Amino acid sequence: MELNSQPFVYNAFPLPHFNEREQPVEMLVFHSMAHNAAEGISRLDELNLSSHYIVDFDGTIWQCIDEKKRAWHAGISSWQGLTDINSRSIGIEICHNTLGQSAFHRRQIKSLILLSRDIINRWHIAPDKIVAHSDIAPDRKADPGKAFPWQELAAANVGIWYGARFSEETDIVKMLSFIGYQTSSEQLIQASAYAFCRRFLPKKTKTMPTRKLLDCPHPKDCSSLLKDSEFLHALQNIYMQYQLYR
Ligand SMILES: [Zn+2]
Repeated sequence: MELNSQPFVYNAFPLPHFNEREQPVEMLVFHSMAHNAAEGISRLDELNLSSHYIVDFDGTIWQCIDEKKRAWHAGISSWQGLTDINSRSIGIEICHNTLGQSAFHRRQIKSLILLSRDIINRWHIAPDKIVAHSDIAPDRKADPGKAFPWQELAAANVGIWYGARFSEETDIVKMLSFIGYQTSSEQLIQASAYAFCRRFLPKKTKTMPTRKLLDCPHPKDCSSLLKDSEFLHALQNIYMQYQLYR
């Protein structure tokens, strides 16, 4: 790694769980883990998993995998019709005791913004390809969680947030699908709608500060969400912002 090209110093702690990429890097995926970095690295190692970076509670950044290699963090997932997200992405885990159900530490967010901007600039990652694990696996994952500060990140040019204009589109499935979410079944549509809310309308989602959250990323029945006018309004706005990048 070219340490001199980084805007800050990070600690390397290599994990052996990686292979060669089969696709060019075009995405950035955020996660959270309910451990500090040292515990989290041990846990990933036990599970034969990995992530390129881990941001510890105090904002220290640990690098576990060379960015040129394919880390194993995304699992079965999809975004904008793209699969093999591990081949296409750089993964960042953020240490958080409640898996993002409550505010992140300021120093973590500062480090995360610096690291993300550096990665985005070097790999030319478009804003619409910056995602939560819960965005790309809405039926399996809930991280980095409803308190992840997407608005603050977007203000620092990391990802997308609301804009001034709204679309007049009313087809919810069309809009979710265009943004990138999976909509191939009724179950996935509901899971994707809930994942959208976790990111863009968190007051519509439940707070569940438990590790079991990862096994239960959304309530069984989210069908009422699909008829909610506030949800539709948020979707019409975000859909418009994503259209700017196609
Ligand atoms: Zn994750």
